[in-house]
Order: sequence, then structure tokens, then C-alpha cells
Amino acid sequence: MMLRQKAAIVTGSTSGIGLGIARALAKSGCNIMLNGFGEPAAIEKQRAQMINEFGVEIQFDQADLSKSKDVAGLIESTTRQLGGVDILINNAGIQHTAPIEQFPEDRWDAVIAINLSSSFHAIRFALPQMRKRNWGRIINIASTHGLVASEHKSAYVAAKHGVVGLTKVVALETATTGVTCNAICPGWVLTPLVDRQIKDRAEHENLSIAEAKKELLAEKQPSHEFVAIEQIADLVVFLCSESASQIRGTALCVDGGWTAQ
Ligand code: NAD
Repeated sequence: MMLRQKAAIVTGSTSGIGLGIARALAKSGCNIMLNGFGEPAAIEKQRAQMINEFGVEIQFDQADLSKSKDVAGLIESTTRQLGGVDILINNAGIQHTAPIEQFPEDRWDAVIAINLSSSFHAIRFALPQMRKRNWGRIINIASTHGLVASEHKSAYVAAKHGVVGLTKVVALETATTGVTCNAICPGWVLTPLVDRQIKDRAEHENLSIAEAKKELLAEKQPSHEFVAIEQIADLVVFLCSESASQIRGTALCVDGGWTAQ
């Protein structure tokens, strides 16, 4: 229960990596503000289950992070309901793939807004109170695509490189304080976001789902294994610990060797 009484926002925590991070932080004693889209009944069920399992306070805010006004509202409602924002996990993200000449302008704008600008807004709204308490943890879920590129992912790669840059700047601006800012760069993790890419590949290349998964891994991830959601979540908990207080401005890869190539 090392993070008892801390309050954490995990954006995009109704699914995938964000949900895993929220659960790991709750297990460590954090009160949690969940956020994201989904069926209200399913979200409520998840919230009740976490309260029951971990005995901490769990709230939900449906802020649409593509809107800066909603991001401000998320920080405000967390501060009101959980007493502050000690830990900010910028995780919400979307993907769109297309060659650049055919990349729809509205998809570019949406990917940049959700994957990059929402982190800028959340950090600028949450940082003043972290500075006041002289303690805070900001963890941005970037991607291997924050460090290297793949074709057909112009908006995602631009946004994730932006997240890694933003992380470094915030780390420098808070370097003499108790606030740290880091990025995590996962390789392939089996979540709904990647499921869609596997299905697309299976359809386009006339493969079974199992074959498409195998191909996807073989192309990029030398371990030929998916990263587990829990492995990302455990790293987040470690970055929130005192042992990690001098880890600042890094982009930590959890990618089965992807970026070693
Ligand atoms: P996911 O699709 O399972 O979850 C995305 C979450 O973001 C959901 O809760 C969704 O509701 C939320 N979301 C989307 N748009 C939103 C908006 N406008 N406002 C609020 N919430 C919104 O995806 P995931 O794979 O768990 O991805 C989580 C993060 O990890 C993303 O930033 C993604 O880029 C990153 N990532 C994922 C992988 C992977 O292999 N899955 C690899 C590297 C990085």
C-alpha cells in the first residue's frame, strides 16, 4: 500500500493499458479517477469491482480529452472529489493508419488532440498543485513510435514523438522539485487498439487472426511475444515510488527489443 492516500488520474482507463494501470495503482492504495469512453453500465461495474477489490475510492469522469475544456474539468473534478491530483497518467490514445497522401485531415487533428495536446493541457492544469505540495508523478504513455517510425502512422508517430519531447521539457522545468515526469514506450500490447490492427491485417492479407498476430510480432518485436498490460502497470507503480525520484525525463521502453534493432 505504498501509495496510500495519493490521488491518481488515469486517462483512457475504461480499457486496455489504462485500466491495467488504474488497477495496479488502486492495489497500491491510490484513490483513482477513471476516465474514458464506453458503456456506462460496464464502467460502473468495473468501478464497483475495483472498490470492492482494493478498498480505495474510485470515481469516474467522462471528459472527452480532445477538448481542452474537458481536460480542465477532469483536473477540477478530481481535485474536488479526491482532494487533489498527486499522480497524472496521460494514457488515452487512438490510432489511425493510412498513407500520408490519403490521411484524412480530421483523423490527423483527432490523433494529435487526444494523443498529444491532451497531455499538454492535463500537465499545465495539474502541475501548479503538485508544485505546491512539492510531490507529484507525471507519466506519459508514449510508444515505441515515440522513438522510431512505421509507415502509414504519420499522425500517431508525430504525436508520440511529441509526447517524448514534452516529457523531457516538463522534467527539466520540474527538475529541482519533488515532481517527476517520464514517458513509457510500450511495444505491441494486446489491447482493443491493437486488436483492430490485427483484424485489418488478417482481412487485407487473407490470414487467420492467429497468423496475423504472429506476423505483426515477427515484423517488429524480436521477443515474438506481446508485452503484458501488467508489465506496463508495474513500471508505472515503480515510477511512483521514492526509489524512482531521480528518474526524470526518460523514455522507458518495454518493447521486447523493438527499438534495439
Ligand atoms: P485502448 O483502445 O484499449 O484504450 C484507449 C483508451 O482511451 C480507452 O479507455 C478509450 O475510451 C480512451 N479514449 C479514447 N479517446 C478518448 C477521448 N477523446 N477522451 C477520453 N478518453 C479517450 O488502447 P490501449 O492499447 O490500451 O492504449 C493506451 C495507450 O497506450 C495509448 O496512448 C496508446 O497509444 C498506447 N500504446 C499502446 C500500445 C499497444 O500495443 N496497445 C503500444 C504502445 C503504446
